[in-house]
Amino acid sequence: MIIIMKNSATTQQIAQVVARVERDGFTAHLSQGEERTIIGVIGDDRPIDRSIYELYEGVEKTVPILKKFKLASRDFQPEVSQFRVGGVKIGGKELVIMAGPCAVEGRTKLLEIAHAVKEAGANCLRGGAFKPRTSPYAFQGMGEEGLEILAEAREQTGLPIVTEVMSTEQVPLVAKYADILQIGARNCQNYALLTAVGKSGHPALLKRGMATTIEEWLMSAEYMLAQGNRRVMMCERGIRTFETATRNTADINALAVLKHLTHLPIAFDPSHATGKWEYVLPVARAGVAAGADCLLVEVHQHPAEAWSDGAQSLTPERFHTLVTQTHAVAAAIGRA
Ligand code: PEP
Ligand code: MN
Repeated sequence: MIIIMKNSATTQQIAQVVARVERDGFTAHLSQGEERTIIGVIGDDRPIDRSIYELYEGVEKTVPILKKFKLASRDFQPEVSQFRVGGVKIGGKELVIMAGPCAVEGRTKLLEIAHAVKEAGANCLRGGAFKPRTSPYAFQGMGEEGLEILAEAREQTGLPIVTEVMSTEQVPLVAKYADILQIGARNCQNYALLTAVGKSGHPALLKRGMATTIEEWLMSAEYMLAQGNRRVMMCERGIRTFETATRNTADINALAVLKHLTHLPIAFDPSHATGKWEYVLPVARAGVAAGADCLLVEVHQHPAEAWSDGAQSLTPERFHTLVTQTHAVAAAIGRA
């Protein structure tokens, strides 16, 4: 259930309601909107007597949330969530572009591509130090050394870093270096990891699992929100379908559906969604048109030499075109 406070509700009235929620054994999550405060009452599946809460001063009304996800829903928070990562505002009017190689492949190469993507207009730098590879014999990432290199790139370019964390044990280490913790498609329903990232309070980017429904994916986000972490964004990266012409199928629908269902900022990864660099630009444009707040794009100075995902990596020049064109699409739909 949510408790919608009146516009005129005082801090003290809000505190009294929160105290009652807690006395009843539930957790109170506050959503402080521009106009009013909404209190999310979360607990087990016990029925809640809503009428009790409506007796409190400052309460306008109580509403049950019928969806399985509660804190992620627009009922709990009507406005899109916004948060800052370094100097970058996520969830604002401005399209945010995160770019970089699939994996950190060494200091010189990473620093070079970091400067190149910045020059081309990226707002954040991506790059995996821990790589979830299908084969145990494939390059698994540079580990902590890769994280150190990413931190050096941030120092040089000022770009915040987004990088993947693959396990619960890695959370403190990756959080020490990263500005945004990426949870990969393969870990979308790793509830222990989601809980740990939630507890860390660190900004998180949650990729959609290859076969997770939108509701399941939102429930995964809910795991982090339930731990009090509000800085969570969703990232559509393509799903498995019968189609083999592309690596995955970009679920453009999901972007529109998410915008409707959730206040969480939405990212779109046209690189993994298509798997082929030729399709990255047109599909990225479509993603922005459908409502993505943010893009996550793989860029490599020599895609043919990349240690992973070269086929879907753009050169810095092509990436520059993507930046220009996606910003034009953003402007056409009233975004900055
Ligand atoms: C990646 O971003 O490089 C990655 C491994 O993505 P996903 O988890 O979407 O496959
Ligand atoms: Mn990749």
